[in-house]
Amino acid sequence: MSSADLYNEIVQMTRELVRRSAHPRRKTLMLSPELAAFVTAAVPAAPDGPMVAAPSREDNAEALAALARDVAACTKCELCKTRTQTVFSDGNPHADLVFVGEAPGADEDRIGRPFVGRAGQLLTDIIVKGMKMRRQDVYICNVLKCRPPENRDPLPEEKRLCEPYLIRQLELVHPKVICALGAHAATTLLRTDLSTGRLRGHWHSYYGIPLRVTYHPSYLLRKPEEKKKAWEDIQHVMRFLTGEEKAERSSASLSVPDDSLA
Ligand code: SF4
Repeated sequence: MSSADLYNEIVQMTRELVRRSAHPRRKTLMLSPELAAFVTAAVPAAPDGPMVAAPSREDNAEALAALARDVAACTKCELCKTRTQTVFSDGNPHADLVFVGEAPGADEDRIGRPFVGRAGQLLTDIIVKGMKMRRQDVYICNVLKCRPPENRDPLPEEKRLCEPYLIRQLELVHPKVICALGAHAATTLLRTDLSTGRLRGHWHSYYGIPLRVTYHPSYLLRKPEEKKKAWEDIQHVMRFLTGEEKAERSSASLSVPDDSLA
């Protein structure tokens, strides 16, 4: 490869890096062997490990706290005008398991924590009595961080505007498994219009993180006869966490998107 070709490739790669800086999920670049050799020779390796240190758990917790502050100041959609406060998350920012729900309700809007009303009590029972875990061992958040008035369904535009916060949240927590609670969480995370009934019963992938769909606790309060199915879904999550089950995907599985959050 001539010096001019090498120079041109460096220029192209620099442009690509700038472009990808706007898309932080795409982190890998394919270099030609010549450029890779040039970069390796030009940039000495750090004596102990990678040149750029991986973020620590403390860094991620701090980044989550900063993200929560950004959310608290957010005015991207009309819900900022009717909320009492934003509702960012509850639980362990280093959790292996994340539950993603729909949006805050009246109790959550008042208290500032997700899943604290009747549906929240059912979720807590699932975690504590069913999974034999503590609520503070998991991480809980919603697609929307502000309460829709009268608990109406989130609008597509609201979900679109709020989703970057959720993506970043999940990127920072980086759990081993995600459990999507109900249609809004499942369809937002998996970029699909399929029903919860169609999506449950299979392993899916969210940026490489295994994802299981189950019914929202509010739905289970209205339809207690569906609790058995929800318990089946939760048992798959439990078996995955204990290593008894692999997140093997079937023909009905969805994968969104195809690169990694990490
Ligand atoms: S719902 Fe999300 S996008 Fe809308 S104001 Fe609240 S934090 Fe911002």
